[in-house]
Amino acid sequence: MSKFTPTSKANPCLSCSDTKGNCRHQDIEEIILCMSANSSRKGEIVESGYKVIDFTQDGLWAVLKLDNQQWAEE
Ligand SMILES: [Zn+2]
Repeated sequence: MSKFTPTSKANPCLSCSDTKGNCRHQDIEEIILCMSANSSRKGEIVESGYKVIDFTQDGLWAVLKLDNQQWAEE
């Protein structure tokens, strides 16, 4: 798995805007680990159009990916 960067003021969470380092960004593939979304269900669309694709093994973070399917659908 690629390296994840904790959120910060210069690098807020793209989904929940966290700046306290609770969430994590992956540099590529638009994957984020969001602590605010960890009570969501798999497949759910959360803030900013991100989709919950999985959860981390420890359950701390929801694994979010930008959901582009809504743009592909007519
Ligand atoms: Zn977040």
